[in-house]
Amino acid sequence: MSHTPHKDDVPTYTLSEGCPVADPTTAQRVGSGPVKGLMLLQDTQLIETLAHFNRERIPERTVHASAVGAWGEFEVTHDISHLTSAKFLNNVGKKSKVLLRVSTVGPERGASEPVRDVRGWGMKIFTEEGNQDFVFNDIPVFFVRDPIKFPSLNRSHKRNPATNLPDASMFWDFHNNNQEGIHALMILFSKRGIPASIRTINAYSGHTYKFTTEDGFVYVKIHLKPDQGVKSLSQDEANRLAGENPYHHTADLHDAIARGDYPSWTMYIQVMKPEQAENYRWNIFDMTKVWPHGDFPLQPVGKLRLNRNPTNYFTDIEQAAFSPSTIVPGIAPSADPMLQARMFAYPDAARYRLGVNYQQLPCNAPVSKVYAPYQRDGASRHDDNYGGDPNYVGASLKRVNFSGSRVGANGHAPFGGGSQAHEQWVGQVTAYSSEVTDEDFVQAREMWKVLGRCGEQDEFVHNVAGHLRGALPEVQLATIDMFNKVDSKLGTRIHEALVKES
Ligand code: NDP
Repeated sequence: MSHTPHKDDVPTYTLSEGCPVADPTTAQRVGSGPVKGLMLLQDTQLIETLAHFNRERIPERTVHASAVGAWGEFEVTHDISHLTSAKFLNNVGKKSKVLLRVSTVGPERGASEPVRDVRGWGMKIFTEEGNQDFVFNDIPVFFVRDPIKFPSLNRSHKRNPATNLPDASMFWDFHNNNQEGIHALMILFSKRGIPASIRTINAYSGHTYKFTTEDGFVYVKIHLKPDQGVKSLSQDEANRLAGENPYHHTADLHDAIARGDYPSWTMYIQVMKPEQAENYRWNIFDMTKVWPHGDFPLQPVGKLRLNRNPTNYFTDIEQAAFSPSTIVPGIAPSADPMLQARMFAYPDAARYRLGVNYQQLPCNAPVSKVYAPYQRDGASRHDDNYGGDPNYVGASLKRVNFSGSRVGANGHAPFGGGSQAHEQWVGQVTAYSSEVTDEDFVQAREMWKVLGRCGEQDEFVHNVAGHLRGALPEVQLATIDMFNKVDSKLGTRIHEALVKES
């Protein structure tokens, strides 16, 4: 990886306020002889240089801190205008600019990349109707379905508060006591838990979304599959690579794009009618469950291609902010509680990390015209702040056009307006925490069969045993009990592997 400045571009060095300075290596010192020690507050170059260095880092994301990213484009290949009014999806051949940021979840910035972890997939599509963010993962399901558990899940995957070390006991203790995550664990500890390259991962919405038109809506799940094929690393290959080339995923993506070998993904949707949701075997608002392909086949929609490396990592990727709440007309949230919580949490994280005007940063700014005069001032305002335009709603002093549909009376839907009966089915307000039942093990069991068909069961057992070995004995026993509920032979095999491989 290299970055070569343009030879002809010879700028004149200045301080950040524009004053030219002859030498960036000097500082003003007091003294007449050869020993010159004391320095001066009037030396703006020195003081600015030291003070700015202290402030170079912005708050690290609590999760998804370590990432690789690139620019690209999304092209529609199949007409789905009968399903969504979203304009960027509505003409075969239509292209939209994209920014993609793919991250590990637990590790801090700068951590080794070829590790077993979920990959986050932050994809911003710059459309004529504003930005459309797809904030997906490389596994189709998640570990919890109750958002109040989200901070705890992530802490258990990060560092022990006393030792500051990743902790297998914490990890498995959380999952032993929150077994709705068994399906996600089956996938994380399969071979796909460690991608060979960012170019070879799937991406899944996980959540159910709505695609809306004037006539109503359908539920969808979105999938992106790499045209390069899915490729993963064994635990042993990853261990070696983490030592030899810990930034392999960054280098691999950068170098491929730099040599013109542009990676691409095909986007598919699964489509379900509201009436089907009411009678479906699985709760479609439960993020721990997939829609089996046999029930809802994948339908192709378009193609994502990455074709440009960031010119500056900080401005293009570190300052990028993605949120499931950033949606265009024609796409709407479902009643998935995890999705609802993320719609609050992601912009809130961006406001904390980047400041309240983060949408104005070049990597986040929509290509469509923005007029949001009721959102004013705040730290680091970069535009004219709407000058003298009224800053309150209902002003008669300046005409403003309004378009789009208004939120329905029940608060659920501007959003394609489902039938009253369906909105009632979606639910009334209650204080709720889900229970784990045998239903949570059914899809995990199907995954165990998928691994059997792929000849990957032994490797799965080896991966779990390798991680679980670091846990306390009582945590190991509880974890074996949990896997026994997937398949009685699976728990036993993990137990045997723990004994044999230790
Ligand atoms: P199918 O039996 O029709 O297809 C198997 C699915 O498993 C495919 O999506 C395949 O992805 C994926 N897969 C294959 N090998 C692995 C692996 N080692 N790790 C993770 N995923 C893998 O699937 P069904 O839809 O009937 O679901 C059966 C089980 O497959 C589910 O319970 C779930 O655990 C898993 N699965 C299902 C997905 C879905 O959206 N329905 C998505 C991913 C996994 P690919 O096509 O990329 O090879």
